[in-house]
Amino acid sequence: MKWYQLSIKEVEKNTNTDLASGLSEKQAKKRLQQYGPNQLDEGEKKSALLILLEQFKDFMVVVLLAATLISGLLGEYMDAIAIIAIVIINGILGFYQERKAEKSLQALKELSAPLMQVMREGSWVNLLAKDVVPGDIVKIKSGDRIGADLRIIKASGLHIEESALTGESLPVLKQENVLTGKLEVGDRTNMAFMGTMVTQGSGMGIVTATGMDTEMGKIAHLLQSAQTLSTPLQRKLEQLGKILIITALMLTVLVVILGVYQGHDMYKMFLAGVSLAVAAIPEGLPAIVTVALSLGVQKMIRRNAIVRKLPAVETLGCASVVCSDKTGTMTQNKMTVTRVWTEGKLYEVTGTGYEPTGKFYYRDNQVDLKTNKTLVDLLAFGMLCNNAEIRFDKKHDEQYVLDGDPTEGALVVSAEKAGLKRNKLLEDYSIVKEFPFDSTRKMMTVIVKDRHGEYFAICKGAPDVLVERCHKIVSTGSAKTMSQMDEKKVLNTISELASQALRTIAIAYKPLPKGFSFKQEDVECELTLMGLQGMIDPPRPEVKKAIEDCRQAGIKTVMITGDHVITAKAIAKQLNLLPEDGKVMDGYQLSQMSVSELEDEVEDIYVFARVSPEHKLKIVQALQQRGHIVAMTGDGVNDAPAIKAANIGVAMGISGTDVAKEASSLVLVDDNFATIRAAIEEGRNIYENIRKFIRYLLASNVGEILVMLFAMLLALPLPLVPIQILWVNLVTDGLPAMALGLDPAEENVMKRKPRSPNEGIFARRLGWKIVSRGFLIGIVTLIAFMIALHEQPENLVYAQTIAFSTLVMAQLIHVFDCRSERSVLHRNPFSNFALVLAVISSVLLLLGVIYYEPLQPIFHTTFLQARDWLLILGMSAIPTFALAGFHLFTRKK
Ligand code: ATP
Repeated sequence: MKWYQLSIKEVEKNTNTDLASGLSEKQAKKRLQQYGPNQLDEGEKKSALLILLEQFKDFMVVVLLAATLISGLLGEYMDAIAIIAIVIINGILGFYQERKAEKSLQALKELSAPLMQVMREGSWVNLLAKDVVPGDIVKIKSGDRIGADLRIIKASGLHIEESALTGESLPVLKQENVLTGKLEVGDRTNMAFMGTMVTQGSGMGIVTATGMDTEMGKIAHLLQSAQTLSTPLQRKLEQLGKILIITALMLTVLVVILGVYQGHDMYKMFLAGVSLAVAAIPEGLPAIVTVALSLGVQKMIRRNAIVRKLPAVETLGCASVVCSDKTGTMTQNKMTVTRVWTEGKLYEVTGTGYEPTGKFYYRDNQVDLKTNKTLVDLLAFGMLCNNAEIRFDKKHDEQYVLDGDPTEGALVVSAEKAGLKRNKLLEDYSIVKEFPFDSTRKMMTVIVKDRHGEYFAICKGAPDVLVERCHKIVSTGSAKTMSQMDEKKVLNTISELASQALRTIAIAYKPLPKGFSFKQEDVECELTLMGLQGMIDPPRPEVKKAIEDCRQAGIKTVMITGDHVITAKAIAKQLNLLPEDGKVMDGYQLSQMSVSELEDEVEDIYVFARVSPEHKLKIVQALQQRGHIVAMTGDGVNDAPAIKAANIGVAMGISGTDVAKEASSLVLVDDNFATIRAAIEEGRNIYENIRKFIRYLLASNVGEILVMLFAMLLALPLPLVPIQILWVNLVTDGLPAMALGLDPAEENVMKRKPRSPNEGIFARRLGWKIVSRGFLIGIVTLIAFMIALHEQPENLVYAQTIAFSTLVMAQLIHVFDCRSERSVLHRNPFSNFALVLAVISSVLLLLGVIYYEPLQPIFHTTFLQARDWLLILGMSAIPTFALAGFHLFTRKK
């Protein structure tokens, strides 16, 4: 079907829909069954079996399995079966981890799935894009990513960027008229296509195709290279992994050679060597890191932050500056007009929120609105140049709810407080044209026709911007030329209102004589100022503390706002964001500066006011050139470049456009600044937790290798048999390491400076800790083994059981030390319940393989006495407590 060649009526008929009321739920359900969900097929997914098999493809695991097979053939059935069982359990565990990570990443994708505004059964609803069907009537607006193919039925300044489909990066102006001839996708100006982006204006359309039937669906196979990005840390770990594998292998080979040289059985040494290699090679590290990242991501979701790009989790921990929008992010964006100024008089308005009840006072006396025409006209004009709606919603807690922009909502409410109703006003004035608000122009205009057929424009906008465009002012009921004196008075009032942290909107009009062009630049000049309305927008209560927390964490908060300089400054003071010597810069100064000039001053600036979204990019660049890691918030289409350029682009979940969200790496579900703080805290903690289990795992591995190596050097028997080594790898290393990934943040995590992004994995003495603890674990295990061997020289199984238990216990004690940057003494061991549980289960499993008789031959263990445990516990506590004590001692000195 060539939809672009059909008239709107024909499209309506052909899609069997109704322009006035849309589809019914029943129709929609049927169509959803018929056409399927509105989604592009994703490429082939890895099957579960494949993921499972991949767990065993590791080279050393294959060698181990082969070696075990040989030992099975040689008659060592018990060992062979036990080893294979352990390898399989290990594989299943890996499989489970990988699936879990994948699932949570998938869930994340769904969380940030786009919504569409759809007409169903006569009312507008927000639906997930996947539930939209052909025939649905949809609304689109600036910032939307279009969710299906549409035949446009209404367009107002609608520009769509279609590069995803046509490669053409300039936005195309869309319209609703029929087109003729055979046209390429790029020329079908009355159609909008799935995956393209509205850069300006708004419109409506009928869905003509969904899912794989769309133009995008036709080329979808080109896009199916959905690759998951790995984070810098994962990449670093992969490189490190290679070095570790080689080191572990070389040491293992050394152990085997030494063993054989000392007269051990060649075959036994080979099996021990392979087991050691399997245990000591941290091949699972990248996988556990992914699990830890995805667990952290889930935690962030619970705190209202959705991570869209995994690397952001790490970068968050490095953030040194957060640039945040004011309105809605630091403030509540619940605007209420409290002051109105016109004809030289400043009125007070009572009432709170969006409830349309309140009174007007002038110098403490209630105002009689009947005798005050200019005031009422000012309020009426505010209501006409407006797209917001206040609804009384019985289902809603707050009862009065706003649809639309809060600034405009406040103007509707102030007008309703004076008894005005929009429907009534529209009987007297019909709106013929609108020039929508945008943050660069900072104003909005409607052209209206009154009862007498006269046209005039009503403009509202930022007062300093609007006053510049006014040459007249209303005074005692009529327009007169604005004198310098008048202008000074107005500007003084604007400053006065702004210094009370009020957002001010000026309202002006312009009569348009017959034959006047309705061009924006002709209309929006030489206006007549009617007056001002000042509205409060209270700060969000939690933001002040969040800013203070960031400060303590070495993170500077910068406010960026389109609002008036003085308003911004007043709110910054309330939030304690602006220090004594902190500077405020406005958009004008900013636009005069180059990035490098800004770079020289940017450290001292805490507030950027009256800025346009375009300025944000400059701010990000200047900060980055100073070496900062910058988080930048935004919601509109124009914010996207700055969001993309920032190290952490943050988009608003509620007020954000699809375009801003897609450019971002973090989405704030509640638009709240405090959520950024929470995300940074989580980001820091996830990184610390990853360091914790790297430390634990590597120190354990060092201990395992060294005990074997030293034993061979000293010509001792094997302190651990292969199955014990594998058991340690599975049980002792596995569970507690996972639990470390869940460790709650150390209380000082937000008291430290941000981490440098160039920091290596082993920075901050991590490398030293791994080597020293690992060395000690190896040594104490060896000593325990030698003592036991000395006591019962004939009983090797006894000595091996002691060595095995000492190694396990030393690691299980050491795991608590890993929880703190300082030492084991600095944290309550019970504050991580998962870890306590993991350790208890590991201990129980250890006791199981020692005391459950049928397992003894499999694990080469024997019963131990109470005094044996004294030796084991005494020895295993040394690596952790000796060094903790040493540090305590040296620190005090
Ligand atoms: P931020 O979210 O960055 O703090 P903001 O919401 O204060 O910014 P803009 O939305 O760009 O910034 O608004 C800039 C100025 O334009 C406001 O201070 C206000 O005076 C004026 N303004 C805001 N909304 C409207 C509107 N709907 N119509 C007319 N003027 C508006």
